[in-house]
Amino acid sequence: MSANETLKALVDLQKIDVQILELEKDREQIPSRLKEIEGILDERRGSLAEEQNALAETEMSRRVLEGDLKAEKEKIRKWESRLNEIKSNRDYQALSRETEAARKANLGIEDEILKRMQDMEDLKISIGQKEEDLAELESKLNEERQELEGKLRVLDEGIEGYRNSRDDARSKVDDRWFSQYDMIRKRRDGVAVVAVVDEHCMGCHIGIPPQLYNIVLRGDEIQTCPFCHRILFYQQALDELDSEN
Ligand SMILES: [Zn+2]
Repeated sequence: MSANETLKALVDLQKIDVQILELEKDREQIPSRLKEIEGILDERRGSLAEEQNALAETEMSRRVLEGDLKAEKEKIRKWESRLNEIKSNRDYQALSRETEAARKANLGIEDEILKRMQDMEDLKISIGQKEEDLAELESKLNEERQELEGKLRVLDEGIEGYRNSRDDARSKVDDRWFSQYDMIRKRRDGVAVVAVVDEHCMGCHIGIPPQLYNIVLRGDEIQTCPFCHRILFYQQALDELDSEN
């Protein structure tokens, strides 16, 4: 295998690897967004559940207060009928004061009950609004989720397809150059093989020595850039290789 043939095989392999990398980058965003959507919905559902619990608790507390009020009213009614039977003025005064105090206490309980009812009204309005907002958000986010899941399937299929062609491209590169390519690729953001143009490396855009430039142009051996260490090739030589085949 000539140097240019190896370079050509590396360039072909790299084209596929770059595609895979791009698809993987697109793919990377999706799971985190899906998780984010789940988080947003969970938070809204939690906040709705909190208010529903508060409503149930307020309702319970209102019932307890109503029970208390009923018992207190019953007590007052008994006291009032007893007042009619009391002969002693002092006893009458005492029970009369008790009855008055109990009536005042009942006004307080009635206020508490009214307050609970008002709270329940407010909570019902807020819950209704939250349910409406949640339903709207759910439909919007479910739509986005379905889109993302569809995109994920397309990307996975694309990646799978490129991986198959990659195996083929990989088999055309000698092990030695493949390991060098793979090492540089990992260090240089996926680009290990670059063209030289006008005595410049297209990876780091630094000018290379003329002697090295001439070797790359001749294409009888594989060279790397002295600055970024990427493998260098001359595009025209690879194009000529193509037209020979
Ligand atoms: Zn370079």
